[in-house]
Amino acid sequence: MEFTTQMDAARKGIITKQIKKVALEEGMHVEELMDLVAKGQVAIPANKKHLSLSPKGIGNKLKTKINVNLGVSKDCEDYDLEMSKVNKAVELGADAIMDLSSAGERGALRHRLIKECPAAIGTVPVYDAIIHYDKPLDQITGEEFIDVVRLHAKDGVDFMTMHCGLTRESSKHVKRGERLTNIVSRGGSLIFSWMEMTGKENPFYEFYDEILDICREHDVTMSLGDACRPGCIEDASDVSQIEELVILGDLTRRAWEKDVQVIIEGPGHMPIDQIEANMKIQQTICKGAPFYVLGPLVTDVAPGYDHITSAIGGAIAATYGASFLCYVTPAEHLRLPDLDDMKEGIIASKIAAHAADIAKGIKGASDWDKKMSQARKDLDWEGMFKLSIDEEKARRYREESMPENEDTCTMCGKFCAVRNMNKTLNGEYVDVI
Ligand code: SF4
Repeated sequence: MEFTTQMDAARKGIITKQIKKVALEEGMHVEELMDLVAKGQVAIPANKKHLSLSPKGIGNKLKTKINVNLGVSKDCEDYDLEMSKVNKAVELGADAIMDLSSAGERGALRHRLIKECPAAIGTVPVYDAIIHYDKPLDQITGEEFIDVVRLHAKDGVDFMTMHCGLTRESSKHVKRGERLTNIVSRGGSLIFSWMEMTGKENPFYEFYDEILDICREHDVTMSLGDACRPGCIEDASDVSQIEELVILGDLTRRAWEKDVQVIIEGPGHMPIDQIEANMKIQQTICKGAPFYVLGPLVTDVAPGYDHITSAIGGAIAATYGASFLCYVTPAEHLRLPDLDDMKEGIIASKIAAHAADIAKGIKGASDWDKKMSQARKDLDWEGMFKLSIDEEKARRYREESMPENEDTCTMCGKFCAVRNMNKTLNGEYVDVI
């Protein structure tokens, strides 16, 4: 039997190799996964052309996944460096890579990513359109934006962020100056400017059906962008954000009618006490479509440490319904991340994702912690390193500060509670002095 998208296959009862692989990886019955894919509650971004892909499922009942943003910019146009970052990101556990290149030979980088990268590849066509046409923003036509979507789909991009929910009507709040930080989404701000300069409707909204046809043909997962994600604590959960979410709910329904897989992008900056409610509202309005959050950053005042502010928010968001975390690095708000920033961002996101998976009771999640605790109890340093989320750092920290007694660490020395309890319970003499 023929199928177009993973959703179409699941609805027809066809077990694709992608569904089989994801079910195996998640320890889930194929039938249960197919049901979730058919209902749109799990997306498996897998463009038919991305042959090097190792598919991952994104959805509430699955392990929380993380995305890493990379790509060249006008100030940092080093393709080999970017590819080495991609490889390192995959090695560290990135499930998806978004190529946010905004300068140079983006096509060549995209082709290389699709040829070599096993993680799902995402793009934001509106950025690429600006460079692709090399003309002023207001000179690009709506049709030309859609042609870039087609180009990326044909290239093999697995998911694309399109800010379809920002309309001339919904952007009125921004125009009235109701927000402290206006629109902080790069794509959203470009579309807002385009609408204002041309007087036309958002082409990603106006030509939505045509976009869905492209996505259906190539099995591109639609990542419905949140142009009005709050860019500061002050703007969290405001009318702009919620009004856009309502539009995204309707666009989700229309995508599912055409068997197009959908993920919904979400906040942004948000105080901790608003996160749970936001997750529930999204799940209700978008009928359980996977939620992809960009943070949330739980305070605005920590530039240089936003991998921490976002990991706090990400862990809470994923506990209450988000299933895909976009990493944030210490370089957020400051510069393009370097390799070290990227590593810190990935580790922080992975900690958030895993912490949420324990809280959600995801199958096998807490087994990892149990193994680590056993290794700690056994003072099995090699075992602890191997189980560490960042093995290299754990190993380096111990090696940089070796204790006099192998069965302790330099934190407590012979006062080591673990050692002394083990010895006491084994009936051994405890030599503290
Ligand atoms: S010395 Fe202290 S910190 Fe180190 S392993 Fe023993 S109890 Fe833990």
